[in-house]
Amino acid sequence: MLAPAQMQTFTMVFLLALASQLAVRLWLSGRQISFIARHRESVPAGFAGAVTPTEHGRAADYAVAREKLDRIEAIFDVLVVLGLTVGGGIAALGYRAHAMAGEGIAAGTLQVLATLAVTGLLGLPFAWYRTFVLEQRFGFNRTTPGTFVLDRLKGWALGLVLGGAITASVLWIMDRLGPSWWLTAWAAWLGFSLVILWAWPRLIAPIFNRFSPLDDAALRERIDALLARCDFRAKAVYVMDGSRRSAHGNAYFTGLGREKRIVFFDTLLATLSPAQVESVLAHELAHFKLRHIPQRLVASALTSLAGFALLGWLAGQAWFYSALGVAASSDAAALLLFMFAAPAFTWIVSPLLTAWSRRHEYQADAFAARHSDARALAAALVALYKDNATTLTPDPVYSAFHDSHPPPATRIARLMSYAGCGA
Ligand SMILES: [Zn+2]
Repeated sequence: MLAPAQMQTFTMVFLLALASQLAVRLWLSGRQISFIARHRESVPAGFAGAVTPTEHGRAADYAVAREKLDRIEAIFDVLVVLGLTVGGGIAALGYRAHAMAGEGIAAGTLQVLATLAVTGLLGLPFAWYRTFVLEQRFGFNRTTPGTFVLDRLKGWALGLVLGGAITASVLWIMDRLGPSWWLTAWAAWLGFSLVILWAWPRLIAPIFNRFSPLDDAALRERIDALLARCDFRAKAVYVMDGSRRSAHGNAYFTGLGREKRIVFFDTLLATLSPAQVESVLAHELAHFKLRHIPQRLVASALTSLAGFALLGWLAGQAWFYSALGVAASSDAAALLLFMFAAPAFTWIVSPLLTAWSRRHEYQADAFAARHSDARALAAALVALYKDNATTLTPDPVYSAFHDSHPPPATRIARLMSYAGCGA
């Protein structure tokens, strides 16, 4: 037990961390908004032939509108975290859960699920506004109110089952095992993550979307030739009905080991030529060939190990609870406080993670240039930037902090240098 003075100290540290996180987030988005506004009227040199001034202006307005919504959401998120922690929200929900389910794992699981349900409900107006006002205004929305409601219900049902299972398991491990419970809990968490990774394409994604085999014979042939050239075996190529929700296009790989699947959004196939689709696929394939996927898995396993070790220590400290608004310590409160307080500290490493991701993107582009066609990939990216109204002029500092993909101008210039047309 620590003295009240120390309890106070951690409350102060937490509030300071939360305030810095918000200040940096608002500062960066302010930079982004003014940078984009300053460059709204002129299409960057490299894109002059492909993107019209009207399209460029629309992309700028879209980015600024999203950034403004994000600013409001950032402030709202901080208020929610404050309300749950020092404001006593988690404690109050714990009190309710115990009144309903007594002591033990059932009550703890109920407390965790109730807290997540509350935050889910609080975030609902933002999700609604984003879909039906913002995306709608820029012509991207294809989601009907019926689909929106159904998506939420399915998501919550899934969260209830999966979240309930992992929470109950971790609480059981915390309750039954000694001080090194966190090691077992981490192993359980890891196993659970791998099961989800396996189950996602097979069982979970089909709940939300329809997947049909790619039936374009000519495109199939191109894809098979590319896979053979790169000595890559994929189980199947699917087309997903992304157009059901949004006009934004994408492509991705999913699954592990021999069960890998390639998924194209129908919206992407509608936009790109067969040569461009092949080059996008070559880029995606590179993430497997260059072992980016296992690297990310190992990194996230190690990060979660560090997280569980820290949680294992914090859960035993009385000040951790009292400083964050919980009078009586409990396993469920430890999980929740950690879940909601940790991001106030971990955001600081975000630029390192995005830099790592951007490095992988450049490597994948280089791979695609070698095994497919750099010009086709550049053309595909420009078509996607245009179609998704991606801003071509992000603020460099904002981009370095937030963006998992390189800024459009740098990325296209590098691809063109591979194609031998100068940088
Ligand atoms: Zn990529």
